[in-house]
Amino acid sequence: MSDTNTSACVDLRSDTVTKPTPAMRQAMLTADVGDDVWGEDPTVRLLEQTLATRAGMAAGLFMPSGTQSNLVALLTHCGRGDEYIVGQQAHTYKYEGGGAAALGGIQPQPLPMTEFGGLDLAEVEAAIKPDDCHFARSRLLCLENTVHGKVLPLDYLAQARNLATATGLQLHLDGARVFNAAVASGCQVQDITRHFDTVSICLSKGLGAPVGSVLLGPAEFIEQARRWRKVCGGGMRQSGLLAAAGLHALEHHVERLADDHRRAKTLAQRLADAGYTLEQPQTNILFVSVAGLNRERLALWLEKYHIKADCLGRDSIRLVTHLDIDDAGLARAIEAFETFMSEA
Ligand SMILES: *Cc1c(COP(=O)(O)O)cnc(C)c1O
Repeated sequence: MSDTNTSACVDLRSDTVTKPTPAMRQAMLTADVGDDVWGEDPTVRLLEQTLATRAGMAAGLFMPSGTQSNLVALLTHCGRGDEYIVGQQAHTYKYEGGGAAALGGIQPQPLPMTEFGGLDLAEVEAAIKPDDCHFARSRLLCLENTVHGKVLPLDYLAQARNLATATGLQLHLDGARVFNAAVASGCQVQDITRHFDTVSICLSKGLGAPVGSVLLGPAEFIEQARRWRKVCGGGMRQSGLLAAAGLHALEHHVERLADDHRRAKTLAQRLADAGYTLEQPQTNILFVSVAGLNRERLALWLEKYHIKADCLGRDSIRLVTHLDIDDAGLARAIEAFETFMSEA
């Protein structure tokens, strides 16, 4: 085994673990700030406008997390006794603490997800409730892109838009990693977001900002969302410090997502060659099957190489490449997985 004790940890658990770069910290340090609850933080306003423009939306609202951004979207789209149609494994259904139901009286209508991560649109249509007092009112369809690292096809998005328009559903995108989707597809983020009424985008995943998500949509919607943001715990004050990190990320960390995708492909290829079972990734996330693997032993093995991976928490091992994993770190991860297979 190579000398790994002196090298920094390679953390493959998530792209949320990235730390702000020196240049990003510098941008934060010099940010012009004001009280954003009074609408007076110029850097927050610039971030909201910049992202809205890039997504082809009228307005944006800066929030501390993607969870709050999605929750505020749901609360703004739906009232008590309304429902949203959503994937069974979608973040907005499964991983947000049941917030829409707990805080909004909004009923989820989960549906199984297809192979590519979307919902079968015929099933969506069949799930829309008639206007009858027995039923919740079907208001909203929620999609996610990327979804578990997969990119929803653009023609599928167009079909979803057509269905939403024809049936009067609103259409929300949990676009936590929508920039990964755009970079992987070689399109502008707008080519994806234009199909949606509202979109939530995370700055703290692959884009590498420490904190922050932005909800985007029509101006009137965003004004209502501002009220719900207050209800959900409030706005932040001189949050231009954080918005500056987001602006820096939009300028410097979007195109480089292609590097994360390339490294994920390399990692997947080398792991497959070493005998692991996995699908080739489309973006920066890959899932390794645990069938036949001694997970506890693998976890300990990776620890020796200072590799962090979530070996025990899920039904497969999720590996995520990001800003803080360079080619040397990737090589060490590959070595650790390869030697585990050959020596363990
Ligand atoms: C991370 C994530 C969120 C929520 O973002 P947080 O900032 O962690 O609350 C929402 N949706 C998806 C798909 C995510 O990956």
